[in-house]
Amino acid sequence: MSSPRTQAQHYLALPNGEIAVKWADGHESFYPAHYLRCSCACAHCVDEMSGRKTLRDESVPADVRPVELHPVGRYAISIKWSDGHDTGIYSFDQLRRLCPGKAES
Ligand SMILES: [Zn+2]
Repeated sequence: MSSPRTQAQHYLALPNGEIAVKWADGHESFYPAHYLRCSCACAHCVDEMSGRKTLRDESVPADVRPVELHPVGRYAISIKWSDGHDTGIYSFDQLRRLCPGKAES
């Protein structure tokens, strides 16, 4: 079941390209666009059989930006990126794990 840790109250793309998520437990996460793009877990970026990442980070433009965010049910968002990649779905579970903040315990 979802806990407040993995419920997103708000999320948005910031003008600088970061994606901000406010969580139900009060935590706020800020994801640099390139970091999040390179964390994509879709079938184009991760081998479905082995689970190994096939995306090469250096193939992603350093200035990649989120173009559109769409909710996927209540558990995830899909992100369309400025490099044309639009098959990535980021579950809130995954996003919370990816949180780059250092204050997390
Ligand atoms: Zn992908």
